[in-house]
Amino acid sequence: MEHFDIKSDKAAGFINQQEIIRILSYAKEHCLEKNLALEILKKAEQMQGLSAEETAVLLLNQDEQLTDQIFTLATKIKNAYYGNRVVLFAPLYLSNYCVNGCTYCPYHASNHNIPRLKMSQEQIKAEVIALQDMGHKRLALEAGEHPLYNPLSYILESIETIYSIHHQSGSIRRVNVNIAATTVENYKLLQAAKIGTYILFQETYNQKQYEKLHPHGPKANYAYHTEAMDRAMSAGIEDVGLGVLFGLHNYAYELVALLLHAKHLETKFGAGPHTISVPRLRPADGINVQNFPDALPDDLFLKIVALLRIAVPYTGIIMSTRETETIRKKSLKLGVSQISGGSKTSVGGYTANDEQTEESAQFETADNRSLDEIVGWLMQLGYIPSFCTACYGKGRQGIDFMKICKEQQIHNFCAPNALLTLEEYLQNYASSKTRYIGSMLFNAETSKLPEVQKKILFSRIKDAKNGSVKFF
Ligand code: SF4
Ligand code: SF4
Repeated sequence: MEHFDIKSDKAAGFINQQEIIRILSYAKEHCLEKNLALEILKKAEQMQGLSAEETAVLLLNQDEQLTDQIFTLATKIKNAYYGNRVVLFAPLYLSNYCVNGCTYCPYHASNHNIPRLKMSQEQIKAEVIALQDMGHKRLALEAGEHPLYNPLSYILESIETIYSIHHQSGSIRRVNVNIAATTVENYKLLQAAKIGTYILFQETYNQKQYEKLHPHGPKANYAYHTEAMDRAMSAGIEDVGLGVLFGLHNYAYELVALLLHAKHLETKFGAGPHTISVPRLRPADGINVQNFPDALPDDLFLKIVALLRIAVPYTGIIMSTRETETIRKKSLKLGVSQISGGSKTSVGGYTANDEQTEESAQFETADNRSLDEIVGWLMQLGYIPSFCTACYGKGRQGIDFMKICKEQQIHNFCAPNALLTLEEYLQNYASSKTRYIGSMLFNAETSKLPEVQKKILFSRIKDAKNGSVKFF
């Protein structure tokens, strides 16, 4: 039996079941000790993060006053690291052919009710133009796992197609990729294709539950899936994104394991995850959420978002349109730094609105507003919507990125870049109502910048009008 070792190459070593159980029993035993909880909160105020054990103590203590304190601190940390900026992106589903058997996903191989679709390069081009016309600059590619329909060569070709399209003033500047666990060689190819972040959700860290939910297909191999980020980072991919699908297993187990995974990557590679996503089980074709007793209620879900913000302050938190406007609003305050907008979760959904396309969706979205509406909404809440993709092009990745984040220096780049890309959006894509709200926000926010930076920003905005965007 493998012992707990945060640096281990083996899933059973760094996501060690005995260690998780030990942490949870410790937390259960001590969570009601008020002094301990306050001591942990005091440590968290240093904004350098918390261990999985400390986070578990705060999670299991259900005192309402403490939860309020956690929320207040999470908001403070969110503001210190990310200010009022929110990065926007959209998912792009390439294909829903899949050989796996994930019981919570309608794309599982034995679901014969949904249409199976795969986009050609021409269709991808049309979808990307539609996304560019909305104003998107950052995509998350999604595809089922299928060696015949979706081999890596198809993914690589699609990435090349996406980067090559420059429609009017549009371009996609960062393609993040969410595809199945693969080999070091394939990760090297993805890295060479200039992907942004490689994202892979663990779904659940509990091996027994994982094996039950993934009865067949390559994804059934728990260790291979759990060790994927190690292979990706060994292959040179510096930014990786973790996530669990909350609702598949006990939330406390998942949070502890997720933090151990983050610690493992940080200890082994010098940089923790670039992002953590917080998807929650949603209804979909043939998927009844009632069958999942661990489905997470809103209040606990929000507490988890806040605790993630406190535990890993320098890691971006992503929330998709699975969540409602209300939950997204609350989560943005507590720690979410990136959201999707105007999303379609079907294959070809940005250009076709026929029945077949709609039925190919992976899950029901709960926030169906257009990107323009989301941008306007964010600004009315006082946030700066950002389409920034600067860091990848500037080499601010992995360890370098984390260093800038930990020193809370990322503000110096994010703030002017957010304003630069917001202005680009307002000029080229916004409705007159959104442009009006935006111009007021833009003026208020630029007045906060140091004079020198403001001068550079205005000159870069001028250049951007001629099609050349120079980031900070
Ligand atoms: Fe396939 Fe991913 Fe759905 Fe599993 S979760 S069935 S791997 S698309
Ligand atoms: Fe993200 Fe870097 Fe842009 Fe900040 S400057 S929003 S960290 S890409």
